Amino acid sequence: MAAEHASPSASKDWPESLRLTGRKALVTGASRGIGHAIAKTLAERGAAVAINYVASEGPAVALRDEIVAAGGTAIAVGFDVGDPAAVDAGVKGVVEQLGGLDILVNNAGISIDALLLRVSPDDLRSILRTNLEGTFLCCKAASRHLLRARAAGRIINLSSVVGEQGNAGQSMYAASKAGVIGMTKSLAHELASRGVTVNAVAPGFIETDMTASSINGPARDALLAKIPLGRVGLAEEVAEAVAFLAAPAAAYITGHVLRVNGGLAI
Ligand code: NAP
Repeated sequence: MAAEHASPSASKDWPESLRLTGRKALVTGASRGIGHAIAKTLAERGAAVAINYVASEGPAVALRDEIVAAGGTAIAVGFDVGDPAAVDAGVKGVVEQLGGLDILVNNAGISIDALLLRVSPDDLRSILRTNLEGTFLCCKAASRHLLRARAAGRIINLSSVVGEQGNAGQSMYAASKAGVIGMTKSLAHELASRGVTVNAVAPGFIETDMTASSINGPARDALLAKIPLGRVGLAEEVAEAVAFLAAPAAAYITGHVLRVNGGLAI
């Protein structure tokens, strides 16, 4: 039975072209970091959101409760994006509970940094399984429902500045995120005839658990010196870009890679 779709009253403050009222969104890896900010922002714009997690049930449920307390609609759904059967069952459950699916944000990701000589095949498989296969499996499982959404249908994939520029010690991660860009552009071609847009967002250094050691470590000053805007980014700043691509205002943008990186790669 589909949840009744309530929107927080704050969503009415947004112009129609940026509002997501009536849209149903699934955000993978939304228990923490960038995904958490994306789910919250989409809910503030009026979308009903499914908050996916793989391990952090408590934070996912807490975000669900926060959104519902603010007058929105949210559910928490645990599944591993790299497990095909779990993804199929998870997406089916989201569609049943929210009453459809218009927006898929493939945000779940991991990073394991190592120089080439120290890379282990298991680490490589693990990164590709979550970042690349996970994105693909969720796109495939959601596509039938997004096609039904027609012009409201959106896929937004999280890539990275590293997927475009490369970075020493991140060959596996860069390969997975470059793969996400290729997948995004291919699916943009495939789904355009039905009005569904497919875009990527490529963040630079954003302050989350994933980057805590590099951003707060001894190399912090050297890192900041490379960023023209002179600071690391916030998860909320990535969420704003995702919310824009999800909105009616972005209906004519597809196959694009939107950089949110403070000028780190121009
Ligand atoms: P994070 O703080 O480490 O959070 C990762 C999220 O992904 C968590 O919610 C985690 O869920 C979830 N996750 C991991 N493996 C999963 C799986 N197999 N199935 C389902 N969920 C899974 O990472 P972040 O920094 O927010 O990054 C989010 C995305 O942005 C990633 O794709 C990352 O590559 C990309 N990105 C980040 C940066 C940055 O500077 N932070 C820069 C460029 C791109 P649990 O909590 O349940 O483990």
